[in-house]
Amino acid sequence: MAKRVSTRKIKKHRLYGYDEAGDALGVTSHTVRSWRASGLEVMATNTPHYILGAELIRYIEDKQATKSVKMALDQMYCFKCKEPRKPLWAMVDYIPINGTRGRLTGLCETCEGGLQRFVGKGDLGRFGQIYEITIKGVS
Ligand SMILES: [Zn+2]
Repeated sequence: MAKRVSTRKIKKHRLYGYDEAGDALGVTSHTVRSWRASGLEVMATNTPHYILGAELIRYIEDKQATKSVKMALDQMYCFKCKEPRKPLWAMVDYIPINGTRGRLTGLCETCEGGLQRFVGKGDLGRFGQIYEITIKGVS
C-alpha cells in the first residue's frame, strides 16, 4: 500500500519542477514523473518541465478519493461527480475482463456521466438482486 501523500506544503499558484514537487510531497522525483502517465498534467512544452501547484493538488486528491471511497452495494463510482452514485434506472452492463472478474458500468442518476465498479463474476448474483444486469461479451 502506498503511503498517503499530503498536499499541505503545496502552494496552488506556484510552479514546481519534479524535484521540488517530490520534496514538498515527501516522494521521489521519479514518482512525480511517473504520475504523468496516470493523468498529472505537466507543462512539457519547455524544459525544465513544470507542474502547477493546483494541478498537483487536484491529481493527488483525485487519486486518494478513488482509493478511499467506500461504496454501498447499490452504488458505483462516478467519474464526473467523483463520488459513489446510484445508476440510472438500476440498469448496468457487466463487461468481463477475464473469466473471473469484470466491471459494471452504468449511467449516473445525478449527472448521467459514466459509472464504474469492478466486481468478481461470483458477485453477479448479489448485484443481480438490485440491478438489471446486461452481460456483454468480452470487448
Ligand atoms: Zn455523476
